[in-house]
Amino acid sequence: MAIQRPKGTQDLLPGTIEQWQYFEEAIRSVCRDFGYEEIRTPMFEATELFQRGVGQTTDIVKKEMYTFKDKGDRSMTLRPELTASVCRAYVEDKLYGQPQPVKLYYVGPMFRYERPQSGRFRQFHQFGVEVLGADQPIVDAEVISLVWNLYQRLGLKGLEVHVNSVGCPVCRARHREQLQDFLASRKNELCSDCQERFDRNPLRILDCKNTTCQSVTEGAPTTKDTLCEDCSSHFERVLALLERAGVVYKVNPRLVRGLDYYTKTAFEVMVDEIGAQSAICGGGRYDKLVEEIGGPPTPGIGFAMGIERVLAALQVQNKLPEAEPKQFGMLIALGEKAQIEGFALLSALRGQGIPVGMDLLGRSLKNQLKSANRQGASYAFILGEEELAQNVMVIKDLTSGEQTEVSLSDAVNEISKKYQRGV
Ligand code: ATP
Ligand code: MG
Repeated sequence: MAIQRPKGTQDLLPGTIEQWQYFEEAIRSVCRDFGYEEIRTPMFEATELFQRGVGQTTDIVKKEMYTFKDKGDRSMTLRPELTASVCRAYVEDKLYGQPQPVKLYYVGPMFRYERPQSGRFRQFHQFGVEVLGADQPIVDAEVISLVWNLYQRLGLKGLEVHVNSVGCPVCRARHREQLQDFLASRKNELCSDCQERFDRNPLRILDCKNTTCQSVTEGAPTTKDTLCEDCSSHFERVLALLERAGVVYKVNPRLVRGLDYYTKTAFEVMVDEIGAQSAICGGGRYDKLVEEIGGPPTPGIGFAMGIERVLAALQVQNKLPEAEPKQFGMLIALGEKAQIEGFALLSALRGQGIPVGMDLLGRSLKNQLKSANRQGASYAFILGEEELAQNVMVIKDLTSGEQTEVSLSDAVNEISKKYQRGV
């Protein structure tokens, strides 16, 4: 039997890859405009980085990591996300010594051992940003408005931007206590995951997808009731800034991130047309994370966006661009001599950056013309034995069918002029 790709992975083929390139170009141009620079870190890291940087109690670390021993008996893990890696690089490459804040973005594959389904893969791709070294509310607002701006440029509709503040370790401890008090009498109604969360990480119960848990937590104290003054004024400021930037958001007091190094702002973006996996972006502030992995105390904030899910939404909403023509022109040479002459012309045209193709299969004139049309070419440049003998070439406009003759010595110039007019 032929070998198949691993479950939960995809081949991105021509026809689809153009959509990825389109999206990646939009990402790069938004990041350029917002002053974010790209970082590329390894596909695998020491397992400990994710244990500490993502958190031992998270689904990712508990059950989703691709962990293996290398030949030197070191435990390595394929990166399941990139915030921990970026923080590691910030410390290891001493980015804290550069002007602050450091504003970075990344695009690339992540790996999680999950049950593959629509919108959920084992190798998937994320675009994300991280800002390190700045704790002001305006940074949070900039990061969220970058996401918003990208979606606006792409024309994405039906977005829900949920924002919340999870507070700092001080106010979170208070929230945790109130939440446990509230839930204590109904603990046994919670799902088994949440019963486990009750002691270790009760905040996560608030965003459990289980409907019983949701009804049990109805009316439970939210972070809003327990924020300290500093966290509360930070949050108000973020919201005021978002308002002024034209970002349409909802405050969702149930939006939580349960780990101690998540602080203050948390946000998530949903779009409802892509089925159950509707979260297309999630992020937040993590002022304690850099310390957690052994660096100097450094505030940070970022998000990660699922590229497959955004593309699925753009697809459903018909917001992906039409396929572009593959070639501007096809050079059709008939006969051996014409092929050699034609190849010289082809090289000269390509040397000038003009996308021109040539038959590679020895096809007939008719089939070459057909193929030129299939490629979406605007012109065919025809060089038969007769033309060659007269030192000319026929330029056929494939839209109008009109044919003109040019001398071979003018051909590159003429074609170049037509191309310049077209672009
Ligand atoms: P979910 O609740 O869907 O599992 P998550 O909380 O694990 O999401 P994050 O770790 O915050 O997600 O990752 C950010 C984004 O990456 C998600 O909002 C989603 O768009 C995307 N994403 C996460 N896991 C996958 C996956 N297995 N396949 C495709 N996209 C994913
Ligand atoms: Mg997940």
